[in-house]
Amino acid sequence: MSSIGSPTGAAPTDTGRAAATARGHLFNAGSLGRYRDVLARGVDRVARRVGEVDTPFTGVTPDELAPLIGGIDLDRPLGDTDAALDELHDVWLRDAVWFHHPRYLAHLNCPVVIPALLGEAVLSAVNSSLDTWDQSAGATLMERRLIEWTAGRIGLGPTADGVFTSGGTQSNLQAMLLAREEAYRRAVGGAATRPDRPQVLSRLRVITSAAGHFSVQKAAKLLGLAADAVLTVPTDASRRMRADELARTIDRCHRDGEVVMAVVATAGTTDFGSIDPLPEIADICADAGVWMHVDAAYGCGLLVSPTRRHLLDGIERATSVTVDYHKSFFQPVSSSALLVRDGRSLRHATWHADYLNPARAVEQGIPNQVDKSIQTTRRFDACKLWLTLRIMGPDAVGELFDQVVDLAAQAWRRLDADPRFEVAAQSQLSTVVFRYRPPGLAPDLADEANLHARDALAASGAALVAGTKVDGAHHLKLTLLNPETTVDDVAHVLDLIADHAAWYARTATAAELSCPVG
Ligand SMILES: *Cc1c(COP(=O)(O)O)cnc(C)c1O
Repeated sequence: MSSIGSPTGAAPTDTGRAAATARGHLFNAGSLGRYRDVLARGVDRVARRVGEVDTPFTGVTPDELAPLIGGIDLDRPLGDTDAALDELHDVWLRDAVWFHHPRYLAHLNCPVVIPALLGEAVLSAVNSSLDTWDQSAGATLMERRLIEWTAGRIGLGPTADGVFTSGGTQSNLQAMLLAREEAYRRAVGGAATRPDRPQVLSRLRVITSAAGHFSVQKAAKLLGLAADAVLTVPTDASRRMRADELARTIDRCHRDGEVVMAVVATAGTTDFGSIDPLPEIADICADAGVWMHVDAAYGCGLLVSPTRRHLLDGIERATSVTVDYHKSFFQPVSSSALLVRDGRSLRHATWHADYLNPARAVEQGIPNQVDKSIQTTRRFDACKLWLTLRIMGPDAVGELFDQVVDLAAQAWRRLDADPRFEVAAQSQLSTVVFRYRPPGLAPDLADEANLHARDALAASGAALVAGTKVDGAHHLKLTLLNPETTVDDVAHVLDLIADHAAWYARTATAAELSCPVG
């Protein structure tokens, strides 16, 4: 027996066998049998669990799950796919939060379409990385086509460009980065002596509405702007940015020597589904020469709506747009993009590295997406949207979104007519903000009762709703993104909420009567 690879002359052995076994897990032409088998088992587990679940949640608590997960020795593998899937079931699948369930009505999580799940499986096996052409080939060009397609749906014009991102937060951050650099360039351009950069940055302001997304504040912080850089404009009765207040705020900034770096309009606010008055905002931004960013993380589904595209009128005048396909295109997390009117503005995210994307690649016309992105290694999330469009088509996606917008309108009318509840402004999209507030219930008690109702409902697992504050008062929120949810589902959940809240109000009142404070 040869002793090659075994300099001591000992048998080639356990380490050798272990290495061969480890290599057997690698995905390649030699392991296709295992690939098919293992993935099929995973798909089967998910299918079995989804077939069983009859509530969106089990109500499990962190205290119940933490010991289970903490007790697993990650240095001692189970060695067997089925055993690992059994364990995965116990620590996750059994108690997962299921967005496909018709009574999951909480956050902006959509049920996902099967073509996108196919895309997810394929993209992670091939594992293209979208930073450079030489790690992705066709995937880069497919992403570019989808960017072009989205920009076309928005109407951004011939110089538009963009890039896929990990989510709306990153899209907004990148938009603010580009806007900051443009504002800085302009500020420096006019000056006789080169101003101090921190000094210029400290004068930059971003204006959004009081109902805008918190990622705008976060972006300002990450970008080194002043602590008070984000100014929030009041909203009207429908929770849309007041254009007159926006104009006033811009004037005030200019009077105070501040530089308005960007206005962030929201097309679909997270709580109210309100769409800011885009045409008016576009006029004001054009007059003031200000970057207009439209955060359409939620409202982007309207881009494919067969009946409601007009609600986004004015978006075509934006300087940049955030879209979250994982919010309203029924795509799995993550799938998002930033679009810009002028592709050249993406250069602010460019840095050339000899080992990755040398400047000469640009001259050679090699399409390296990293030149447009704040990420380097990047998933081919676009594959999911690609297969969705190629299998279902955009109209089918838009019809699904239309259905949930219709459902929200029905749910709103129902709540408005129900004396147990008070309802906030009607959403233009698919949220319903409301609270339990029957006649005679004191405001403080109503606050507590609504908080309790949400928690009790979640603990029961029967349904999930979200919570928020409206003008200081605790409210509940339905985010309707599931076309399978019916008005009867909504009515049933409202009854559950009313029961929990009424129980709380009764119990608290009784306790107060039997044990008066002070
Ligand atoms: C969800 C949301 C975001 C953030 O998107 P993520 O994908 O969660 O990062 C930004 N803006 C609005 C209006 C949103 O609703």
